[in-house]
Amino acid sequence: MLDTVKTGQSPGQGVYVCTNCHQQVAIGDYDLLPKCPRCTNNEFVKD
Ligand SMILES: [Zn+2]
Repeated sequence: MLDTVKTGQSPGQGVYVCTNCHQQVAIGDYDLLPKCPRCTNNEFVKD
C-alpha cells in the first residue's frame, strides 16, 4: 500500500509521482510539495 502525500506537505527529499498523470516532481529536504506542473493534481506517491 502506497502512502500518498499532498501539495503543501513537506515529505522530505526525493522524487514524487503524480497519482493522476505520473509526472515526476523532485523536491529537497525542506521544500513543500507543489501542485503537479502538468495536471495540477495535488496528490503524489513517493517514487
Ligand atoms: Zn499530474
